[in-house]
Order: sequence, then structure tokens, then C-alpha cells
Amino acid sequence: MSLANGRSYLAIPGPSVMPDAVLRAMHRASPNIYEGELHDLTNSLIPDLKAVAQTDQNVAIYIGNGHAAWEAALANTVSEGDTVLVLATGRFCIGWGEMAEGLGVKVQTLDYGDAAPIDLAQVEDALRADKAGAIKAILAVHVDTSTSVKNDIAGLRQVLDTTGHDALLMADCIASLGCDRFEMDAWGVDVMVSACQKGLMTPAGISFVWYNAKADAVRRKTVSRYWDWRPRTEPDYYFEYFDGTAPTHHLYGLRTALDMIKAEGLDAAFARHETLARAIWAAFECWGAEGPMHLNIADPAHRSHAVTSVVVGSPNGDKLRHWCENEAGLTLGIGLGRSPADAYFRVGHMGHVNAQMIMGVVGTIQAGLIATGIPHGGGAVDAAARVIAAGVGPTS
Ligand SMILES: *Cc1c(COP(=O)(O)O)cnc(C)c1O
Repeated sequence: MSLANGRSYLAIPGPSVMPDAVLRAMHRASPNIYEGELHDLTNSLIPDLKAVAQTDQNVAIYIGNGHAAWEAALANTVSEGDTVLVLATGRFCIGWGEMAEGLGVKVQTLDYGDAAPIDLAQVEDALRADKAGAIKAILAVHVDTSTSVKNDIAGLRQVLDTTGHDALLMADCIASLGCDRFEMDAWGVDVMVSACQKGLMTPAGISFVWYNAKADAVRRKTVSRYWDWRPRTEPDYYFEYFDGTAPTHHLYGLRTALDMIKAEGLDAAFARHETLARAIWAAFECWGAEGPMHLNIADPAHRSHAVTSVVVGSPNGDKLRHWCENEAGLTLGIGLGRSPADAYFRVGHMGHVNAQMIMGVVGTIQAGLIATGIPHGGGAVDAAARVIAAGVGPTS
């Protein structure tokens, strides 16, 4: 007998749950890539990709995962010998910095550890100290998926403006786009990268770089043909911009996913993610009242609405994850980038998730805690249910 048989839930922070409608849109014969429907469909993605990032600027589509978008953003903006300022609040911004290092770029890092947001005062000091203007770009992650911290990206723009430093503000919204509020133009972000397999609910394989006129003005004189963002910004140069065969089925899937986001409304999607996140936090606060388990990010204002990182002590993280997956069909995320990894786990709640799924996660973790004997406080399922019952609250 296994209680895991039935429909499973992959509650890892990406890839996220794919809507059946997205899968159906992709279940088709190969289309003609030279003319016809696929061209119109690709053109139609552009305004909606801009809308989801809340920008009137440019978006380039790449065939590749989020790492490809990292490299694309760098390949267009910085050269060997330039410096970038990496604001590390977890594994992902460090990874973006490593990508820059591989391109011969000097990396200056402010590391805030694994459980704290960016400290804007320290960024201000670093920018003021850079009298020569060596720093060409700030690399920040909106939501670092390894720690589930959410950073104040608009605050970074204020620091740049206050100090008069003209570095580009580059943000990674791979985990947060469509889940946590992000406003590229209003927040003064110059370059933003994201990918399709998290809040955008499409199988991994395409990614995007949004960039504004300022970033395009300082674009490198030489950019490798494949990563150049300019041709990829114009779907009319259909083949050229993909530099080869278009990612045909991803485009169909993404079209449907963006239709779903549009039908719900971006504000409603943010409110849904926020309410579901609050339900999860309420449960963890009860569990954490007794025993070792607690939320990785103490301040709710700096917690992501898309992913929740939890500290539970070694080897409890793996014990709980394995029980949930093997005995109940719920896959939780590993303690990525943490040491020891089995002292942590993460819950992905991004994209195609609703109240019954989140109550399923909370109830299953409750069962897992009992089954594995991890000490925990009571009342968690009730606390989550109360948040759900109260309905959608104000968005932040
Ligand atoms: C998932 C993720 C990445 C990496 O994206 P891949 O598609 O796996 O390359 C980078 N940054 C953040 C914040 C992420 O969540």
C-alpha cells in the first residue's frame, strides 16, 4: 500500500506546477517556423511580457534557462576588466557573479549571508567609495530562491540616485516574476532577467532579458551574435533573432500561460500569492513555537510570496522531505546552497497554485512531522485555514 499514489504535487521552487492548459497548448505537431501563425503568436507575446514586468521598454527572448538570461544580460553590458557589484543574499546572486567572473569581469561582493536582505546603507557606502566609477552594474536578486529573501529593488534605485552613481541596476526576477510585485519602470530597473518555468508556468527552456534605453545606450560595441539582445527584441526578424530554429512549443505554452495571467489580472495574482504565502507562514509559526523548525526569513516584509525557506536542523530536512515524497506524493525543495543541506528545506508556491494545494502542503507537512517524530507546536493547519478563510488580503 502507498498513500503516495494519486496526483503528486511538485512543491519545489521551480520548475513549478504546469497548468493542463499550457500542456495542451504544447501538444501539437511542429508548426511552420518560416511564416504564418507562429510569427503572429510570437509578436503577441511581446506586449504581454512587457506587461508582466510592468515596463514599456524592451524584451529579448532567449532559448535557454535562467542561467542563459544571466549570461545574456552580462554579455550585452559589461566587458572584461569592468567591475560589477554583487549583492549576495543567497546562492543565486553569487551564481550570477560567478557567471560574470567567467566573462573576465571583476566581482565586488557585499555578502549578507543566508537569512538577511540587502542592507542599502552598505550599498551606498560602496558606491560612494567608487570614486573612479569602476562599478558598471549592480547585480541584485529580487527573490533569492535559496533563502526566500525578498530584496528592496526600488530602494537600490534610490541609493543609485542619491549617490549619483551611474551603474546599471540589474535585477534577477526569475523566482518572483508574476508572483511578488515587481515594477520595472516605476522602480527604475535598467535590466531585468527572468525565465519561463516559475511564475510563468511553462516548461524550462526559454528566458528573457528586459532592458531600457539607458542599458541599450551603454551596450557593448561587440556582443557575440547569439547573445546580442537587439535582434531578439524584434520578432519580425524572426529567424535571426532566434539564431536558428524557434523554440516552437515553448512559445505556444507561454502564450497560454500569459493568457491565464492576463485573465486573472496581475494584481489579483500578486494578492493570491500573498495570501497563500501568509497561510504557509502562519502554519510554520505554529510549528516553530515548539521544536527546531522556523522560517528562514524573520521579517515578513522581506519574505517572498513565491518560495519559503525553512530551517529544521540536520537531518530533519531530508527526513521530512523524503517522508512527504515517498509516503504522501508531495515533493518539497532541497536546502539548496545551504550547509548542511539536510538542515533546511523549501516550499515552492509559485504560479499555478491555489488554496486547496496549499492546504494540502500544510496538512501533509503536519503528517510528516508526526510520522518522523520532529518536535513541533500545534495548531498549524487551523492557522493556515484561518488565513485562507479570511480570503485575499491587501497586496504589498
Ligand atoms: C531558478 C533561478 C535561477 C536559475 O534559473 P535556471 O532556469 O535554473 O537557470 C536564477 N535565479 C533565481 C532567483 C532563480 O530562482
